[in-house]
Amino acid sequence: MASSKAHHATGFAAGVIAAAVVARIGGGETFPGMLLSFFAGIAGGTAPDWLEVAWWSRARRLWITHRTLTHWGVGWLALLAVSYHWLGHSIYAAPAFGFACGGLMHLFADWPNPLGVPWIAGRHSLNLWKSGHCDLIVVAASWAAAWFIGEHVWSHGAHEFALLRHLRAG
Ligand SMILES: [Zn+2]
Repeated sequence: MASSKAHHATGFAAGVIAAAVVARIGGGETFPGMLLSFFAGIAGGTAPDWLEVAWWSRARRLWITHRTLTHWGVGWLALLAVSYHWLGHSIYAAPAFGFACGGLMHLFADWPNPLGVPWIAGRHSLNLWKSGHCDLIVVAASWAAAWFIGEHVWSHGAHEFALLRHLRAG
């Protein structure tokens, strides 16, 4: 895995992305949804690793092999798609969406190192560097993505808010 510090930092970026998207899609009850998705994004950023640990047992061993089911790209993408669909309709959608953003961000952070990530079937690795190396690149890339998406969403969102205010005033 990328170092856990890197996963926290990228999870944070995932939380920002999720909150920005929820703010855009979420409609009326946006603020609690934003908060939920933000924290769920941070939790999701490390989830594929802590979901592997049998935290309920004293030994805390892994209950499944490292980087198998909990790092399965299809599963996280499905969660992302389903929760995105329900945004604005269900209160659970925002945290689920944030969690999925964080999980996918985790997979992207794990992807470049040699162990790879099982996106569909079988692991695939970008084979760029060893675990823990180049954390800075991974973190910087995640924040670049957060900035790009956030900026996009907010600038459009701002127009909409202005329009809403205009409609209300009129
Ligand atoms: Zn991992």
